[in-house]
Formats: sequence, structure tokens, C-alpha cells
Amino acid sequence: MTTTTATTPTTPSGDVVARAAAGFRQRYGAEPAGRWAAPGRVNLIGEHTDYNDGFVLPFALPLRTVVAAAPRDDERWTVWSELSADPVEFGPADVDEPGRVTGWTAYVAGVVWALRAAGHAVPGARLAIASDVPVGSGLSSSAAIEAAVLAALVDLGGLDLPADRWPRLAQRAENEYVGAPTGIMDQSAVIRGRPGHALFLDCRTEEIEQIPFDLDAAGLAMLVIDSRAPHRHADGEYASRRKSCERAAARLGVPALRDVPADGLDAALARLDDDETRRRVRHVVTEDQRVLDTVALLRAGRVRALGPLLTASHASMRDDFEITVPEIDTAVEAALAAGAYGARMTGGGFGGCVLALVEAPTADAVAAAVASAYAERGFAAPGAVTVLPAGGVTRVD
Ligand code: ADP
Ligand code: MG
Repeated sequence: MTTTTATTPTTPSGDVVARAAAGFRQRYGAEPAGRWAAPGRVNLIGEHTDYNDGFVLPFALPLRTVVAAAPRDDERWTVWSELSADPVEFGPADVDEPGRVTGWTAYVAGVVWALRAAGHAVPGARLAIASDVPVGSGLSSSAAIEAAVLAALVDLGGLDLPADRWPRLAQRAENEYVGAPTGIMDQSAVIRGRPGHALFLDCRTEEIEQIPFDLDAAGLAMLVIDSRAPHRHADGEYASRRKSCERAAARLGVPALRDVPADGLDAALARLDDDETRRRVRHVVTEDQRVLDTVALLRAGRVRALGPLLTASHASMRDDFEITVPEIDTAVEAALAAGAYGARMTGGGFGGCVLALVEAPTADAVAAAVASAYAERGFAAPGAVTVLPAGGVTRVD
């Protein structure tokens, strides 16, 4: 298998930008007033720690969603995506009641709704959307479309909305309009991401810190392997993990599992009476510590030393949190056997992507090893792309 190499352009690759503009011209018979681009993201480490008030460390990807847009004279919005056939149009009455605009258009209507709910006069607009972010693979195409649309509307309307308020607003669009219960991580990463950095986010305080993560300078690359595993019961399993963590925190008399320190883990486990809950707690507490350890290594410039932390995170998700599937475990094992410094599932689990930290020149060989391990087990062929940490949402032109 040959990997697709996505480097870190300061602007997105000409292709997706051109597709958005061409789509705009074709659908609306006019030139767009501008183009805005937002990246997908992956979480380097810190899984299922967000709703436990803990730590995550995502970075923005060089794969982007691009919105070409122009204002219109009335208060209506027309949107087209290359993933859909015809443009969809909606007005204020549709937007102001969550649930009236459904399907993929809800992500766009949700942003209009959230802006209006925050008191902004959102300009009517025509929008055309193209994307290189795979949809539904856990790389957050949803936050990418929200952020790109938000940037376009803020610029077109000259709205007074500083960028540090964008993540919360895009999150509201997804939580309250689309109805998907996600944390603040995705929107923070795709809006605040910086090239060569990972974003250290404290999910309790929502404080962020840019941590140097310059894979390129170190001669390294991150291989993102799309497991192509069907998401089996992911929603129900997510809800049950979350409940189990909340019950354990209540039992331990703390607001959230974040409040169990790593050196107090054994004492905390001794106070829990069933083995499954103990394993769930052990994952969350050790995972928070692995995020902190990762940040410390990155600050010290020791990027290769991350490997064992990534692999330990995977083992914890597999054995203690029990959220991996055979395709995912196969990809991790094959990547490690082929020389990756470390590998782990990223995202909520039961499918999605695997990250493998590799010497840049070995990326193709590691991807090929994963593909042949898949073939041996009869799994559908995985996808693979090498990435470097990229920047957050921007206006392209
Ligand atoms: P993920 O964020 O992991 O890719 P989600 O299920 O959260 O998966 O979001 C995917 C949904 O977001 C799609 O089903 C679609 O409704 C919407 N979406 C994302 N990108 C686009 C796009 N370029 N065009 C149209 N809809 C999109
Ligand atoms: Mg999403």
C-alpha cells in the first residue's frame, strides 16, 4: 500500500480549494467573495478523559474542509457540498428552531443558529463546501465544517467575535442544533491548532497551551491508519463507559475522576468493589497521567520517547477500558512490529483510526505491513495517510 502524503501547507492544497470555488461557480453562476479552510484533527493522547474533566492533546491535520462563500441581499442561506447533490436553502424560521434543518445541512444551520443565539446579525450567504477530511472516520470532519462555515460568516458579516470564543460557539452548534453530545476538544483543535504544535487542553478549566510538536524537524511522521472497522454499538458503549466513570467518581467522593491523583490510584481502587469499575478508573487515571508525561517529553524535545506512552495508552484502552476491536488491535500490533516507536487507537473507540509514530522514510513500509496483516485476517483494506501537525481555521483568499 502506498500512503498519501499530506504535508503541512500554510494554505490547503490547491485541489480542495479549487474544488470549493469551482463548485460555487457551477451552482451559483458567480464568483465567491472568499474561501475559508478548517482542518480535521486527531487526538495524540488522552482518550475518554474529556468527560472526566481531564486532559487531552489533539493536533490539527493538513487535511481540510474549504468553504467558498459570498453574501446575498436577503436573510437566507444556501449551502452545497460536494457530498450532496443539490444545494439546500433555509431561512431564519428554519434555523431558529433546532431540529428543523436535518442531515448534513444541520451542521451549517447550527452555526447560523448559534451565532444568532449569541446576538449576532448573521449575513445571508451562499456557500459551497469541498473537503479532504474523511467523513465519519473520527478525524472530526464535523468540527471542520463548523469552523470553516463560522469563519466565513464572521468575515462576511464583519461580526465582532474574537477567535477564542469560536470553539464554544461551534460546540453549541453541534450539541444543541445537530444534537451530538461532544466535548470542546474537536472545535478547540480545529480552530486553535498551530503548525508544529499540539494543543494541550484542560477539559475542566478549558485552558489551552500550545506544545511544540515538530515532527518534521525531528525527521518523524505520524501515520494515521483508518481501520475501516464498522462502528459496532459505539453510542451505547460510550454511554455505558461514561456512566461507569460518573458512578465511580461519586463512590470515591470526588467531582470527577480527574481528581484521583496517579499516586492515589491504588488507594482509590481499593475502595471500589467490582473489577470492571476498577479497570475503567485505572484507564482514566493513568491516561490523564500519560497526557501529562507526553507534554513533559515534548517540552523537553524528546519526541521519539513518546512511543511507549502511546503504546501504553493503547494497552489501557484494550485491556482496561475495553473499547478496541480486532481491526484496531491488528493495526497497532503490525505497526509496532514494523518498527513504529509507538501506536494507539485514537478517538472514542470501536473503530476509527490508529496513530503510529514513525521515522518519516519508513511510513510507507509500516503502512504496507498493516495492510498485509489486514489481508491475512481477511479484513477490508485499511486507509493510510502520513501527517504533520497543521494550523487551525484560516481565510485562504
Ligand atoms: P467525524 O466528525 O468523525 O468525521 P461525525 O459523525 O461527527 O464524524 O460528523 C460527520 C458528519 O458531518 C457527516 O455525516 C455530515 O453530516 C457532516 N459533514 C462533515 N463534513 C462534511 C462535508 N464536507 N460536507 C457535508 N457534510 C459534512
Ligand atoms: Mg465529529
